[in-house]
Amino acid sequence: MNNSYSQLPEVFFAEATPEEATSPKVVLLNKGLAESLGLEVEELNPEVLCGNELPEGAAPIAQAYAGHQFGNFTMLGDGRAILLGEQLTPSGDRVDIGLKGSGPTAFSRGGDGLAALGPMLREYIISEAMHALGIPTSRSLSVTLTGNDVHRENILPGAVLVRTASSYLRVGTFQYAAARQVPEDLKELADYAIERHFPDIASQDNSYELLLGNVIERQAALLAKWQLVGFIHGVMNTDNMTISGETIDYGPCAFMDVYDPATVFSSIDVNGRYKYGNQPGIASWNLARFAETLLPLLDENQDEAIQIAEKQLARFGNVFEREWLNGMRAKLGLLDEQPLDEALSKELLLIMKDAQADFTNTFRALTDENVEQPVWFSEDAFCEWKKKWETRRKQQTATIEESYEIMRLSNPSVIPRNHRVEEAIEAAENGDFSVLHKLNQVLASPYSYSEEQVDYTKPTDSSAPYRTYCGT
Ligand code: AMP
Ligand code: MG
Repeated sequence: MNNSYSQLPEVFFAEATPEEATSPKVVLLNKGLAESLGLEVEELNPEVLCGNELPEGAAPIAQAYAGHQFGNFTMLGDGRAILLGEQLTPSGDRVDIGLKGSGPTAFSRGGDGLAALGPMLREYIISEAMHALGIPTSRSLSVTLTGNDVHRENILPGAVLVRTASSYLRVGTFQYAAARQVPEDLKELADYAIERHFPDIASQDNSYELLLGNVIERQAALLAKWQLVGFIHGVMNTDNMTISGETIDYGPCAFMDVYDPATVFSSIDVNGRYKYGNQPGIASWNLARFAETLLPLLDENQDEAIQIAEKQLARFGNVFEREWLNGMRAKLGLLDEQPLDEALSKELLLIMKDAQADFTNTFRALTDENVEQPVWFSEDAFCEWKKKWETRRKQQTATIEESYEIMRLSNPSVIPRNHRVEEAIEAAENGDFSVLHKLNQVLASPYSYSEEQVDYTKPTDSSAPYRTYCGT
């Protein structure tokens, strides 16, 4: 294992020691991921996966960062995560590997640093489902029961998740550096981020501007992908937004069933700050906080620096709209571009909202006429829209087969349905992991439209609103 992050000034981390797990038992191991990382599956024993033993070359640390949490600025840091180091993969990538739920660190602020089994299984299921959907994300290597109790409202079984990401550098890491007001530290962090994620721009005169521009582009593309599958992150604080453009921090996230831009699942998001329809705007706000941290590096003259930052920030909306519209075209089987495509897409969404349509299943039904068609497909508004859509589809040079092919590749048949995730976790908590294994298997091929998926496509029949919780 390698430790390039630890070469940064010491203020960026604190050494950390995982808490002893009394009787570790691995309950989930992602062999495919292990292989792609170049890890020997035999070496991934319970002692290593719970943090009792350290892999060769590991130098465990907790990373320092700050963040705007629901709009309020706070100094933070890994309170229940420990970075073991970086793995250099066979394909030449450098990947962070760390533990979550392995006990307190210098940044725990009175928290116990622990995690219960349920939430760690949840992160595993949803992060791996996101990966299978083709969305940039941190990944989950394993979940290991520690044998220790975790005290929440009840006493729960403790677990450690091993997670990986192309790095855990966050907007909040830059906010931390900027808040400390040591210009050399900020510059070292920015140079490190460039070297790690955008090495091509390192030699450019305006490399810090390009850093900002690249992060904006990746985040705009990521947000478009979230919107196109109905993923609601739930806690888009600046400390949960990466420089790499990957999704991290699977806490109160969930997928939307019924299409409604006002959808919120997180129990603490009472004002709907992070509701589905707000996500792109929040990302843009977070990126403005990122841009502010870079001002000292963008130009000596701060007025000039602000202009550079504003020019880059203005691109977020354009990139997001472009990526979103191209994604919608693919979802509707359109392989070329026409001026009315945006209107056609938005009209469908309006009809879906009125019909209280299931987001995923609407596109699934458009993609495969053999699956059960929603009742509202026979209503006038939809029939009118469908005529326009069919006309539009015929206006392209692509064949109808090609059109259906792109739809199948762009409209998942299955997503991690909330009741399915809960059902799998509950069975696992009672010792039966078969439900979870089956769910993970189905979610691994979301675009396959296979027979075995049909049961997993149904939304819940409960009318009770679904609630999710952070930091549990
Ligand atoms: P999150 O909402 O998961 O992004 O967490 C926000 C902050 O709270 C991060 O700095 C976490 O490390 C910290 N945190 C969450 N849960 C715990 C816990 N059980 N013990 C210590 N710190 C925690
Ligand atoms: Mg976090």
